[in-house]
Amino acid sequence: MTFCSFENKVALVTGAGSGIGKSIAICLAKNGADVIVNDINIDLASATANDVNGLGRQGLPIIADLSNENEVNSMAEKAINVFGRIDLLVNNAGVVDQFVPTVEQNVDRWQRVIDIHLRGCYICTKTVGRYMVDKMYGKIVNISSVVGMAGAPMRTAYGPAKAGIIMLTKTLAIEWARYNINVNAVSPGYILTPLVEDAITKGKINDEVIIRRIPMGRLGYPEEIAKVVVFLLSDAASYINGANLPVDGGWTSFGSYGDAFNISSI
Ligand code: NAP
Repeated sequence: MTFCSFENKVALVTGAGSGIGKSIAICLAKNGADVIVNDINIDLASATANDVNGLGRQGLPIIADLSNENEVNSMAEKAINVFGRIDLLVNNAGVVDQFVPTVEQNVDRWQRVIDIHLRGCYICTKTVGRYMVDKMYGKIVNISSVVGMAGAPMRTAYGPAKAGIIMLTKTLAIEWARYNINVNAVSPGYILTPLVEDAITKGKINDEVIIRRIPMGRLGYPEEIAKVVVFLLSDAASYINGANLPVDGGWTSFGSYGDAFNISSI
């Protein structure tokens, strides 16, 4: 689907080898952007970059662990050497929680989840933001989650990290508005990606129970997140700044008892 033009724009999408990030990279390319495809996995990043190239745009795969400042600096320098600019940034990379009761959790694994989500989003935004401030132009979208907006049991790393990403979004939106940089967040509900499919397969989450809690009665698709992210990166969203947009089939609006989809008994 094409609905806006990113001609001459360069985007960096983190964690773009898979799931939502891959969909965002492809949607951006379909709308005219060149895409720096970051991931921690070279094969996945290269596959997405090939998809971008197949759409007639330039896809550049770059491996970097976002929690590592040196690796992020090298990634940004390499991207600037190739393209000379980064106009659009999507902080998307992520991992899941341990899914065990808090008293049984391993502190190092808790820290790793915080580091990839919150520290990674901070380091990447700070690093790329420097180039955006110089150019007096930039659009940033951070991927948070409905779990960053309301408590979920055992999500002691992911939830706080995603909540932190929402506040990081608002803080930078205010600080950088004067530089013509928009910073917004998107909070997906449950989306059918490899991350969620794996959690379902391993019994960490129960999709049947989750679906009953979703007013639209189904999980979302990566493309349904990608289109919203691309909108927020576009000039159509030029006056939206510091917002956090849930894209969740109605999940965060549901405040009643029982099933959200099958409400015939109410
Ligand atoms: P995904 O399919 O697992 O994709 C995430 C990608 O990020 C993977 O390729 C992953 O590599 C990569 N990654 C992990 N750690 C990284 C690091 N340190 N540096 C660079 N890349 C790294 O997940 P997804 O479902 O598309 O999720 C994308 C984002 O949406 C995440 O931030 C997630 O929290 C958020 N989100 C997802 C859902 C959902 O229902 N799917 C809901 C709300 C929010 P590996 O596979 O090697 O780890």
